[in-house]
Amino acid sequence: MAKDVMCEVNNCHYWKQGNNCGAEAIYVVSHAGNMASDSYETDCKTFKPQDL
Ligand code: SF4
Repeated sequence: MAKDVMCEVNNCHYWKQGNNCGAEAIYVVSHAGNMASDSYETDCKTFKPQDL
């Protein structure tokens, strides 16, 4: 279980100073089918734009 999640997506509602994720949990998905072959094929589905 991930304890400290670092993230540089600073326009996310959950983003905190120091590149930290403030969400209680995050959900990461592959956009390359069920299997990802590299990190660029994964995305954080918990992302929410700051304005919402
Ligand atoms: S929810 Fe996802 S995109 Fe948003 S700060 Fe956390 S890790 Fe980054």
